[in-house]
Amino acid sequence: MGNTQASRCDDTSARAGEALRIDGSRLWDSLMRLAEIGATPKGGVCRLALTELDRQGRDFFVREAKAAGCTVRIDAIGNIFARRAGRNDSLPPVMTGSHIDTQPTGGKFDGNYGVLAGIEVLRTLNDHGIVTHAPLEVVVWTNEEGSRFVPVMMGSGAYIGEFELAGLLAQTDRDGILVGEALKAIGYEGSAPLGEGKPRAYFEAHIEQGPVLEANETTIGVVTGALGQRWYDVTVTGMEAHAGPTPMALRKDALLAAAELVGIVNRIALDHPPHGRGTVGCLSVHPDSRNVIPGRVSMTVDLRASDDGRLSAMHDDFLTRTQELATRHGVSIDVRQVVYFPPQPFDTDLVHAVRTGAAALGLSEMDVISGAGHDAVYLARVAPTAMIFVPCKDGISHNEIEDAKPQHLEAGANVLLHAMLDVANQPSSTSRR
Ligand SMILES: [Zn+2]
Repeated sequence: MGNTQASRCDDTSARAGEALRIDGSRLWDSLMRLAEIGATPKGGVCRLALTELDRQGRDFFVREAKAAGCTVRIDAIGNIFARRAGRNDSLPPVMTGSHIDTQPTGGKFDGNYGVLAGIEVLRTLNDHGIVTHAPLEVVVWTNEEGSRFVPVMMGSGAYIGEFELAGLLAQTDRDGILVGEALKAIGYEGSAPLGEGKPRAYFEAHIEQGPVLEANETTIGVVTGALGQRWYDVTVTGMEAHAGPTPMALRKDALLAAAELVGIVNRIALDHPPHGRGTVGCLSVHPDSRNVIPGRVSMTVDLRASDDGRLSAMHDDFLTRTQELATRHGVSIDVRQVVYFPPQPFDTDLVHAVRTGAAALGLSEMDVISGAGHDAVYLARVAPTAMIFVPCKDGISHNEIEDAKPQHLEAGANVLLHAMLDVANQPSSTSRR
């Protein structure tokens, strides 16, 4: 951590802070209360972005933040910032947060944990009368999930300037409702300028959404960065023909070529261990009839890797092998890249702070890489950023059965508390970068 011994000794509140712990049952209680808003019969949550239920979830957050003494501001895309003043309130804040929108069949913890862990950090500081040097902020980012409106990570993307506001406000859901209309309808179209007050540091606590921590019986995932991603829409075009009269040698079977392509995508990922990923998630067959040789197949391809060199190599390999496959099958294959997220390493100092913080708390920890996108991945482009992962049951999320253990959630919030305190109490004269 960046703190020097001298600066620690100067500050009695920092020393008293070493023994500080959040209240795990209060955190759990908040999570369960928020999960009641949009609760599903199977124990999950359906709280889609910018719906009436999202409004209720946001209202819950705002109430809790104000009860913890925060001032609240809302920006033009509906991101909510709860601010706790620092001794030197002109300093950039140390920020934490996540999202409270969910998938249609989402869980109680994805996103919600990061937001409420932030609130619990503030409550803990209040309990002990601790005022940090720099201000602290807890943020709720609008529409991280992207299930009602695209793009995903809309609020954090707008905040860092990745998207134009006007374009986002004009996005529509399946019923033709505009983002701008939906924001107004729930009363969360704010007046704070987009992207103002960039943080000194950004932390995000999150359930892992994968099986690695659980498999390793480890409590804290020290997230070193996020995988880069390339998403493609692929169309394989062959020739529809009758399944009976058309001999095998004279077919142009789009599905046969597509089936081989699924194997190729898998192979490309396996050729780039340990972090290469390759997935075909959607496949639609035309005309989808029992006795017609498929003439057209539309499919999605998702490639991920931990560094851009590998991701580019996977991309090139994919294009080369696709064209070779098209020739061999006498079909045409159109590949259109629709999304590119470069791999995003997190800030070395903050990652180190999370690692040593976990060790100081006596928690098991290991380095992990995030395979999923998070608001933190955008924040990392404009501020030093790190994430803290805790295990979730069987690595499952985006599912109503998503589950996490109270003691893991508590442990992650304690790591968050100390990481935030550490950065927020660094003297402003000390440049971290
Ligand atoms: Zn999430």
